[in-house]
Amino acid sequence: MYHIPIPDTVSTALAEFKTISKYFEQPGTAIRNHVLDSINFQICGNDSIAIVGPSGSGKSTLLNIIGTLEKASSGIVFLNGTATDTLNEKELASLRNRFIGHVFQQHYLIPQLNLLENVLLPTLPGKNRSNHKETIDRALYLIERVGLKEHSQKRPYQLSVGECQRTAVVRALINKPRLLLADEPTGSLDAENAGIVGKLLVELSREHQMALLIVTHSLELAKQTNQFYRLSSGKLSLMQTL
Ligand code: ADP
Ligand code: MG
Repeated sequence: MYHIPIPDTVSTALAEFKTISKYFEQPGTAIRNHVLDSINFQICGNDSIAIVGPSGSGKSTLLNIIGTLEKASSGIVFLNGTATDTLNEKELASLRNRFIGHVFQQHYLIPQLNLLENVLLPTLPGKNRSNHKETIDRALYLIERVGLKEHSQKRPYQLSVGECQRTAVVRALINKPRLLLADEPTGSLDAENAGIVGKLLVELSREHQMALLIVTHSLELAKQTNQFYRLSSGKLSLMQTL
């Protein structure tokens, strides 16, 4: 069998970390706080992965590096096959907008916009009249899918925190990302709503053939995914594969 070697500037995974390390320097000192220590990690196709770890273990840092919101101190991040350090800021922003959906612990909905307008916001940079109706139809379909059909004209202050977070999930899906990143997506919710949002993330990622990466300190949420890693002392270890 003849294998074509894959060069260092491409990857076949949706997202890949090659020896990623991250440290923060303490201002005014030479002291470095090492958060991620030479991590290798891949997300492929329809993977559904959770990374668990206590507060301060580096979960958000890791997710933000995959999401190109932060840069690693060393190592290479590949997204959709391309080494991200070969892209300029504009190319990175465009890739992020098309390729990644992001859900955070807080919903960050815009208070002045109604639910539907909030959901449509990420589609504005690529606004194109020919597919505008299709985009609105998709938004309405997804809003109904998460059980908020009656609320699409309401503003965030008229919705519960759980409903706002379900809206934020729809907003993350509107551009049909291939990779959905969720940072403590149930962290601000009570147990019942946390269960609803966790289940929706897993179900929607399956229905729409997206890979899902959740970072969380909730084992309950992590158990809903197929693979589950622990982040500790800067290292990632595989705990379980279903
Ligand atoms: P987690 O999400 O697991 O709670 P974080 O990734 O937010 O952890 O943080 C990991 C460590 O990195 C913490 O010690 C935190 O204080 C530190 N850290 C995170 N972001 C910064 C930053 N911008 N500047 C300095 N230190 C940071
Ligand atoms: Mg965090």
